[in-house]
Amino acid sequence: MHQGKHSKPWNLREDLMKTCNTCGEHLPINKFSRIDKLDKNSPVKDTCKRCSHAKREQERRDRTWKDDARQCMLNNCRQRAKEKSIPFNIDKEDIVIPDVCPVLGIKLERGGSFKGNSPSVDKFIPELGYVKGNVYVISYRANSIKTDATLEEILKIAEYMSNRAI
Ligand SMILES: [Zn+2]
Repeated sequence: MHQGKHSKPWNLREDLMKTCNTCGEHLPINKFSRIDKLDKNSPVKDTCKRCSHAKREQERRDRTWKDDARQCMLNNCRQRAKEKSIPFNIDKEDIVIPDVCPVLGIKLERGGSFKGNSPSVDKFIPELGYVKGNVYVISYRANSIKTDATLEEILKIAEYMSNRAI
């Protein structure tokens, strides 16, 4: 079979189809980007261009809100430390926002107002203050339950709640 010089590379042919691993749609191969953009014979990705774009956009939004949130939380911590005269030596890098609250397992999200699933900086041992190694980002809900309670107090509360009697 003679291949004419005008024949398209295999991965641009409209008649070849592939199923996207994200949206599950059966699409022409030219709806998928090549893995190696510089190599015209490179195999294509398993995710279609539209889904790849949506994923990149989502990642960019996540990075932006986390970045803003970290700066905002750091400023709030510094302010609170000053007001309460407690130690403060953390940087933005010490504020690590996980996707879900490590205590309650709920998805952490940024909202207009403070909500239960808003990220919140916990001073693990409250009296140590905002110092490196003592801060964890958990949900506002978990943080407001913990507040400055000791482990002993929390266990007593748990016991009270399970027994419904003192
Ligand atoms: Zn897709």
